[in-house]
Amino acid sequence: MVDAPTNAAEFMTSPLVQENLWIVGAVIIGAIGAQALWLTVDFFRRAAHENAQRARIAELLELRLAAARTHRAEQEKKSFSWAGWRKFEVKRREFADPSSQACSFYLAPHDGKPIPAFEPGQFLTFQLAIPGQAKPAVRCYSLSDSPRSDHYRVTIKRLPARGDAPPGLASNFFHDHIGEGDLVDVRAPSGRFFLDMTHDTPVVLLAAGVGITPVLCMLNAIVDSGSSRETWFLFGVRHGDEHIMREHLDRVAREHENVHLHVCYSNPRDGVDVRGTDYHHSGYVSTELLRELLPSSNYDFYMCGPPPMMDSLTEGLLEWGVPEERVHFEKFGPAPGKPKPKPDTSAKGPPVTFKKSGRTIPWDAAFEHVWDFAAANGVEIDSGCLEGNCGSCMTAILSGEVTYADEPSFPYEKGTCLTCSCVPNGPLELDA
Ligand SMILES: Cc1cc2nc3c(=O)[nH]c(=O)nc-3n(C[C@H](O)[C@H](O)[C@H](O)COP(=O)(O)OP(=O)(O)OC[C@H]3O[C@@H](n4cnc5c(N)ncnc54)[C@H](O)[C@@H]3O)c2cc1C
Repeated sequence: MVDAPTNAAEFMTSPLVQENLWIVGAVIIGAIGAQALWLTVDFFRRAAHENAQRARIAELLELRLAAARTHRAEQEKKSFSWAGWRKFEVKRREFADPSSQACSFYLAPHDGKPIPAFEPGQFLTFQLAIPGQAKPAVRCYSLSDSPRSDHYRVTIKRLPARGDAPPGLASNFFHDHIGEGDLVDVRAPSGRFFLDMTHDTPVVLLAAGVGITPVLCMLNAIVDSGSSRETWFLFGVRHGDEHIMREHLDRVAREHENVHLHVCYSNPRDGVDVRGTDYHHSGYVSTELLRELLPSSNYDFYMCGPPPMMDSLTEGLLEWGVPEERVHFEKFGPAPGKPKPKPDTSAKGPPVTFKKSGRTIPWDAAFEHVWDFAAANGVEIDSGCLEGNCGSCMTAILSGEVTYADEPSFPYEKGTCLTCSCVPNGPLELDA
């Protein structure tokens, strides 16, 4: 016991230890260094882990908040919505283009109660009692501005007489007879053509003429929400006189880096319309132009305009490799000039009975829908959009069944059908 320190001292001073002391020192320093390094690495690893966890929690909270907001909006939509017709008062009207052919109407509920929000791209359905008309005219008009708490806005283009075709009934009535303080009957917002605001993926909004209304609503909804979603807006008109909402579009593009505005004039006026000042491109909104402008085809495309424009754009986008489910469009009505079949007395389809009219006629497969078939055979059924959107042609089915090529957007009641969108699925009896 007494010798131990001496032995230790001896050991430490022994030549063997003295010779290898630097190794021992190096081992000790190495061990301390390794420990320190490990502690440092561990510190940063923990810090990174905690940061990642904090980010995940923040992300989760954001998701929960977004879900709560969506839920609240859905609840509000349900509780503030209405069935059937509701009176709205025109609070304001203003022309939206230099030629005064497109007019915006601002509508507030006459009962002063809250109105539901809507999805950008949806439309309102109007019922107008027009003097001299046997029945009210029912027409759909897209909401042209993002949701506001106290009013809706629609923008309506006057359809003039052309050749033998008379002036458009409802659009001219709106322009000539509906002013501030007037009341109109309106159905709640509906429609399946809308922008999903829960996503932030890049979009291309394409429009021509008054087809701008639903996509303008989408654009406004994007910028009003403060989103930095990449948004391309291509708008085609013939010339400057038809340039709807010009100041608004220019301001939105100027103030939002994420918005890329391209206006096309197909027929610019010599000496009046200046390229680079009034518009960006000569010609139509086309897939060729999209291919020039866009860095890729990886977008969702929303379009509204005349049927030939939408047909050629859809075809071009599909050819470019855009999946069908990313091409969305709204039609403002059946394609004009589509030849209507004549009633064929030798048709051999299942019998269709129109009970109120006392007629039973064999179904003729040349007709696209029951409504056209009825009309061609002199059976009158109310109509509005003739696209399955407004519900005007909803008719009770007394017996039999119908099929829809595309499920209509209007939520028709059980035991009824939308005659503008269905065909008989065997013998059919309708309350018409
Ligand atoms: C979902 C949806 C959204 C819409 N959004 C908008 C919008 O935001 N803004 C807008 O302006 N429009 C919009 N529309 C179109 C709108 O609903 C009407 O179809 C449009 O205003 C024309 O209605 P109208 O009563 O003036 O014309 P109609 O009287 O219905 O006539 C339509 C066309 O048929 C011709 N015509 C009528 N009768 C005859 C006849 N006997 N012989 C030959 N031709 C005839 C007319 O000359 C006219 O060109 C939308 C449509 C839908 C389905």
